[in-house]
Amino acid sequence: MADGQADIGVIGMGTMGANLALNIAEKGFKVAVQNRTPAKAFALKDDNPELADNILPAETLEDFVKSLNTPRRVIFMVPAGQPVDDEMDKIRPLLEDGDVMIDAGNADFNDTVRRAKTVEGTGLKFIGMGVSGGELGARHGPSIMVGGDKDTYPLVEPVLTKIAARFHDAPCVAWLGTDGAGHFVKTIHNGIEYADMQMIAEIYGVMRDGLKLEPAKMAAIFRDWNSRELSSYLIEITAVNLDETDPQTGKPMVEVIIDEAGQKGTGRWAVIEAQKLGVGATTLEAAVAARGLSSRREEREHAAGLYAGVEAGQSQFFADEAGFSELESALVTAKIIAYAQGYAAMAAASDENGWDLPLGTIAEIWRAGCIIRSHFLDDIAKAYDKGQKVVNILQAPDFVGRVAKGQSALRRVVAKAALAGIPVPALSAALAYFDDYRRARGTANLTQAQRDLFGAHTFRRFDADGAVHHKWPAV
Ligand code: NAP
Repeated sequence: MADGQADIGVIGMGTMGANLALNIAEKGFKVAVQNRTPAKAFALKDDNPELADNILPAETLEDFVKSLNTPRRVIFMVPAGQPVDDEMDKIRPLLEDGDVMIDAGNADFNDTVRRAKTVEGTGLKFIGMGVSGGELGARHGPSIMVGGDKDTYPLVEPVLTKIAARFHDAPCVAWLGTDGAGHFVKTIHNGIEYADMQMIAEIYGVMRDGLKLEPAKMAAIFRDWNSRELSSYLIEITAVNLDETDPQTGKPMVEVIIDEAGQKGTGRWAVIEAQKLGVGATTLEAAVAARGLSSRREEREHAAGLYAGVEAGQSQFFADEAGFSELESALVTAKIIAYAQGYAAMAAASDENGWDLPLGTIAEIWRAGCIIRSHFLDDIAKAYDKGQKVVNILQAPDFVGRVAKGQSALRRVVAKAALAGIPVPALSAALAYFDDYRRARGTANLTQAQRDLFGAHTFRRFDADGAVHHKWPAV
């Protein structure tokens, strides 16, 4: 096949695909575009005359493939799951040795591992790539997490480096490991995003129900926090959300929005994978569970009637500067613990899959472009950059001091919330995990004794090697 003009192609002109294609075109690359409904590919060119020279829409998959130079680089930006397999199956017969298929959707990393296997030995190459930052990220610079064969990465690196977000001058893209590494890291990113958002929502709940603050006042507090340790995209947008007025009613926008949160599944995957790895990502679990319970609104409304008056009756919180800084400190501390859990899951997956995930680099490429971007991630990057092995973020010297200092604020906020009947499941999970993690002698000895009594599962003793069974009294 003769070489076409396009440097890279994008299949799928939905929100993400169209914006990614515009980003690629803007950076000076020629991008071929194709879509199940072809009109959308042509509309992209027509609607963006300033970039039209770099956008090459195709009516058919055959035309699309012909328009690409070799080795062909084809990005799929279609819904995760069967559509990706379908698109891969359709295009494979049209491709040649050395061509690269790139799944840039939110794939389950297990699917990515399977798809990588299907191209092994065929001459074709496959990359599974997590893209974070939503619509705006795709258009102006996402954070990009790449998985696949290391020697395939240079084929896409020049384009990805140009379109990725930049933290100062560093592009937020990296090759992270073979097959499913990129999509696994994106899944954990989303799990951490769930936890981060849930903990912010819990602090909002304390402000609303404990401190009886108006949204505009909360917005001012979040804006203030955004100038310090908590400085991040999520805190910034929270202030914007809280400051907004509904044009229809004149009420604060957050008060007209129904309290049912949606989810598309990546947070749940993060929790399931962490559980499979034996890592308790309890703050992520609390966040996923909270979204689930939020959607059972009618049931909650009925339960509220059954248990009215359970609250301590008076606010345990004080709306003064000391109270706000306690909340700030609690949120910082819980956030460190949530990230420690996400990082522990990535470390375990890295061992399990032989990925050798560069955990410091992951923090670096999350510093800009993605939803959880923050200065705090720069601190994590630095913790991994010290040349010593970080067993867990909670043992990294830079974080030990911060958690030791902040844990009493987290403890007080969780305790006061419990007494006031205000749910803070992710903050509580963070505190419980921290207390369990820092306890040298736990309580699993009793669990082992029970297991041995009812199931002869054996246990190990402090004073001898090997597993033993004890003859317990009959019950
Ligand atoms: P979207 O707006 O719903 O667009 C989906 C695109 O895929 C459309 O162009 C659609 O074509 C096409 N498509 C749908 N079903 C198809 C099928 N069975 N076969 C072939 N093409 C099909 O989706 P999106 O938000 O851009 O998301 C794309 C991927 O990026 C997903 O994996 C998503 O999880 C991931 N992602 C999304 C975001 C986000 O913020 N939206 C962020 C990160 C990652 P038609 O025009 O013909 O319907």
